[in-house]
Amino acid sequence: MKEPIFLKNARLVLTMDGGRILENASVRLEDGQISRAGEIERERGDEVIDCSSSVIIPGMVNSHTHAAMVLLRGLNDDAPLESWLSSMWKVEERLTPDLERMGAEMGFLEMIRTGTTACIDMYGAFEAAEAAERVGIRMANGPPLISNFGSTEERLSQARKFIERYRHDERIIPLVNLHSIYTNDEEAMIKAGELSRKEDIPLHVHCSETRKEVFGNRRERGKLALEELDSNGCVWERSILAHLGWASSWEFNTMRERGASAVHCPNSNQKLGTGGFFPYRDLKRMGIRIGLGTDSAASNNSLDMFREMKAMALLQKGQYWDPTAALAEDALLCATVNGNDILGLRGGRILPGMNADLAIVEVDPMLMPLRSDNLMSALVYSAVGQMVRGTIIGGEIVYLDDRLRNGESLKERYSELATEVDSSLVI
Ligand SMILES: [Zn+2]
Repeated sequence: MKEPIFLKNARLVLTMDGGRILENASVRLEDGQISRAGEIERERGDEVIDCSSSVIIPGMVNSHTHAAMVLLRGLNDDAPLESWLSSMWKVEERLTPDLERMGAEMGFLEMIRTGTTACIDMYGAFEAAEAAERVGIRMANGPPLISNFGSTEERLSQARKFIERYRHDERIIPLVNLHSIYTNDEEAMIKAGELSRKEDIPLHVHCSETRKEVFGNRRERGKLALEELDSNGCVWERSILAHLGWASSWEFNTMRERGASAVHCPNSNQKLGTGGFFPYRDLKRMGIRIGLGTDSAASNNSLDMFREMKAMALLQKGQYWDPTAALAEDALLCATVNGNDILGLRGGRILPGMNADLAIVEVDPMLMPLRSDNLMSALVYSAVGQMVRGTIIGGEIVYLDDRLRNGESLKERYSELATEVDSSLVI
């Protein structure tokens, strides 16, 4: 049982409950959940954290990422997509389970350092789960289904093993990771869809990311990408479709009918120059749930969700020629409330009964002047992840003032891992 925590006297608390912002308020956490928030007093036995120079916000969910690809950060940057992808695959062929575990840990450390409390990951799931347990982050993952990684049956049996092992885990959330339509045949897609429905777990997939994927599939199989997934039973209410820049409006109607979720990855799409258009405002009007993801540190090159929120709001305004197309509040909603809803978690809002997944953001001078009426824009347009001072997951402090849950320094642990990786992975 964790000690109750009393986050005392925060300058501002962003509840994400209909835009309500509390001033000079405290938040009490007990049994992994938020018990109270507002002008409240501490109770006997509470661990007190002074937040008088901080703002408290719900922890963010990185809804599409490949944490271990921190190992490939900066590799062949700015190259055309095909050449960039082939340099990724060349290095990935040489990754050992140990390197994948270390890479995942580095990714998760970067996330908790910048206020992310949960992620939807796609990469060496067993290694990532070990790393996530060490760091304390919530992570949804599953062994990726990619046909050249072995037969469909072999990959599915790994997927089932992961589900069995983590089905009742508090922080590891098993899902079916179907890599994409272009790395899987129809049989694999059908089986992936069946597994996620049978187990009632999410199905996470890259979809309509590039023009080549969409029109290549239409040439070979006669269907667009989202249409292909749907015809194989992979689009349903627990499906999580990342990218979608090249999906057509009638395919989005299918998504709406099925109740599937979308994930926007603005930085990755721009850096890789994949083109297309993720129509945030239209999808929101259709009632489709939209999360926000960094994608990997190879295509971003950061896992900082503050940067992602800014990129999303700016990209949408630019593409719609309209500054109201995505507000700061929209970016925050995608990063907090929607990310939790996509995973079926009770979180993303600072309200009693919600998971105690929070970030404590230092009021840096570069956020000033800061008031309740400009807090959301300060967080989206001015803040950076390094302003996060503390991250709490399930009522446990996993990061505070450079200390990790086991007392180690985050900076030291990160450089220890980076040094080890450098010596064993010569690129
Ligand atoms: Zn991806």
